[in-house]
Amino acid sequence: MNMRTSRKGYSKQKKSSKKGAPKKSCPECKGKCHARLSLCECGHIFFHKKLSVVEDWKMLKVGDTVKSIKGHGSYWLNLETKEKTYMGVYGKLIIKNITRDGIQAYKVAKGTKHHILEFIYMGKSKTSKLLDNYHIRPHKLIWDKKVKLR
Ligand SMILES: [Zn+2]
Repeated sequence: MNMRTSRKGYSKQKKSSKKGAPKKSCPECKGKCHARLSLCECGHIFFHKKLSVVEDWKMLKVGDTVKSIKGHGSYWLNLETKEKTYMGVYGKLIIKNITRDGIQAYKVAKGTKHHILEFIYMGKSKTSKLLDNYHIRPHKLIWDKKVKLR
């Protein structure tokens, strides 16, 4: 980094990491980041870490693989025992389509070649008008593997 440069603002670059550290450039701010970083300082996301929570389900793309976590999603409440029976879709999912208040995705079932198309509700919490004690809740999704964003 001894090169002379006429660029203004060069002196602002106080942080310079070790020589030879693998770098990649950010497509949004054109800044240089460490190659292992998943997130640029400007907020650009390079990739999602495995098992990290999907913060914004509307950002999901066709073919992304996520996991739906048990203990979330819609449930039926037994008023006598106060037990919740979860009615959501759980396990590994491959995104097929994003809709207004949820996701259409193929549920990956082990030992079968046929994936079942499911609807994963991701909208606001509400109470069902059709079924008593049925509470409609959004699912919680995590990234199943490193998914590169384009
Ligand atoms: Zn950036």
